[in-house]
Amino acid sequence: MTRPVQLLLIVVLPLVIVASLVLLARSTGLVGPGAGFVMRAELPAKDAPIELPDVSGDASLPLVVIDPGHGGFDPGATAGGYVEKRLVLALAQALKEEIEAQGIARVALTRSDDRYLLHTERYRIAQRLDADLFLSIHADSAGDVSEVTGASIYTLSNEASSRAAALFATRVNASDTIGGVDLSRESDTVSDILVELSQRRTQARSVQFAEIIEREGQGTLEFHPQARRAAWLAVLRAPDIPSVLFESGFISNQDDAQRIASPEGREAFAEVMARSIRVYFLRQRDE
Ligand SMILES: [Zn+2]
Repeated sequence: MTRPVQLLLIVVLPLVIVASLVLLARSTGLVGPGAGFVMRAELPAKDAPIELPDVSGDASLPLVVIDPGHGGFDPGATAGGYVEKRLVLALAQALKEEIEAQGIARVALTRSDDRYLLHTERYRIAQRLDADLFLSIHADSAGDVSEVTGASIYTLSNEASSRAAALFATRVNASDTIGGVDLSRESDTVSDILVELSQRRTQARSVQFAEIIEREGQGTLEFHPQARRAAWLAVLRAPDIPSVLFESGFISNQDDAQRIASPEGREAFAEVMARSIRVYFLRQRDE
């Protein structure tokens, strides 16, 4: 075989094979129109302006943004008739009321109805409102393993935290400020360092808040044996706002689900979390 023919075969042969497979699949109805089904959901456009929620509370108080997970077409975990997006919205609302009643902080919810928000939108709402603390609320499912129970408190892992800082640094543009420093006047290297420093401070505060929740919740909340966890969670990625994700329990477990869904369970959650937020802000003030 001459070289041009060889080359031609190398290039053309795979195309011919793929084309025949596609034709074969179409003719047998394995793929193509009518085969299977397609789920469509309206996703918010990437650069769509963010609708900012109302903030309640006295202007002199620090601001906590509470983020009920999932919503809209995304139900989150489901088990035994329980749906995460509804349970966590009720928890978030109970906590908001508790914070308001005690005058602990200003408070806003990322969503107060059944709507879907991207992870980026959730923490951007907190950033746009210049929040001092961000708390995302979820409920877990262990599928068929119904004996797994208890709440967990997540912070961004250190590795993920540095990665988030790097990602954020690359996005920093002329209009950005972080931790009150205008980055537009700094060189890229200085910007990177400032973002990294801000991220480290934020990370330390996130961990501090997680520790307070674990301590304040002892005896009132049911924790998973390994209650404190670190993970790469997109919703915790704001490098300038201390952020914690609270998994309130496993709805795949009957006791956990009933507790989370009950008025008493919501009250216990709201009471512990409001106290934790109060302690956290008192410490920040004293630092
Ligand atoms: Zn969730």
